[in-house]
Amino acid sequence: MTTEYDVLIIGAGSAGLSAALILGRCCRRVLLADGGPTRNAPSGAVHSFFSRDGIRPAALLHLGREQLAPYPSVEVKELKITALTKLAHGFQATGQTGQGHPATIVARRVLLATGVTDILPPLPGFRELWGSSVLHCPYCHGYEVRDQPLAVYGQGKPVVGLALLMSRWSADVVVVTDGPGHLTDYARQRLRRQGIAVHENPIARLVGTVRGGLRCVEFADGTYLERKALFLHPPQEQRSSFAADLGAHLTSKGAVWVDKQGQTTVPGLYAAGDMVPGQQQALLAAASGSKAAICLNEALTRTEVT
Ligand SMILES: Cc1cc2nc3c(=O)[nH]c(=O)nc-3n(C[C@H](O)[C@H](O)[C@H](O)COP(=O)(O)OP(=O)(O)OC[C@H]3O[C@@H](n4cnc5c(N)ncnc54)[C@H](O)[C@@H]3O)c2cc1C
Repeated sequence: MTTEYDVLIIGAGSAGLSAALILGRCCRRVLLADGGPTRNAPSGAVHSFFSRDGIRPAALLHLGREQLAPYPSVEVKELKITALTKLAHGFQATGQTGQGHPATIVARRVLLATGVTDILPPLPGFRELWGSSVLHCPYCHGYEVRDQPLAVYGQGKPVVGLALLMSRWSADVVVVTDGPGHLTDYARQRLRRQGIAVHENPIARLVGTVRGGLRCVEFADGTYLERKALFLHPPQEQRSSFAADLGAHLTSKGAVWVDKQGQTTVPGLYAAGDMVPGQQQALLAAASGSKAAICLNEALTRTEVT
């Protein structure tokens, strides 16, 4: 297929769905390319989303898609975009549909909403328990494990900040560094003052329960530490390389830089959600998708009116 759209939105998570809603209500011809699971797919619930606290991730996406149905100018397709190129007056994308058919799309503007991937430590248990008892965000899941024995994984300054933050939710927080923690004396002092112990033994694995709970952190020397949940801030990478491939500026942390309108340094290429700088939450991703869509519609309108 080759059809010209006003806007191609790549990624149908909170950011993409929310942008599609705005653009559908602007009667814009939109293709929303849904390439698969969202970042929070392994989690049982979306928390801190105003009016939807505790909803299952798939149910939230279902609602978002359902509410696009009344807008005839919005098409939602199972479509993994594999390449994006700039044309004189827009963009051309190629990809593969859910049925395995090749697709070519031409659009005047593109909104990237492809999210990020979390890179978990390559230790047994982290991947298996991710989203249930291995967690990254206290604002998303801290309340559910409040007052429980918690571990915070990491090294250096970031683990100190996260461990001190977690003391808001539990008085029983332990830092596990999996080898040398690279902590300054001052950092150790701050943790001690908060009653947070530091274990620098190498970790062998995380032991979970059949229901996805954490039973304990097992160390390489055979000792173990019973905990109900473990928090970490894993490094991330962009889930798609389209912005970088087109020469858009990325921040030093690898996020796609956007201006106040949500536009990247490539004219006509917008980005929203977790892939741009800032706090990462579903509601914030939805808000940034909405904002980019409004700015995008206004930019398109300026090219259409005299
Ligand atoms: C385990 C876990 C639990 C979380 N819990 C919460 C919570 O409780 N509350 C909360 O507010 N936030 C939570 N978050 C954060 C939340 O998931 C993100 O902030 C939110 O999903 C970001 O939305 P997004 O639309 O930017 O990206 P995503 O939701 O990740 O969506 C990106 C979409 O783009 C698609 N995509 C990628 N590449 C392509 C391509 N080439 N072609 C087509 N499509 C593509 C992906 O398949 C995906 O569907 C959690 C995150 C994790 C990891």
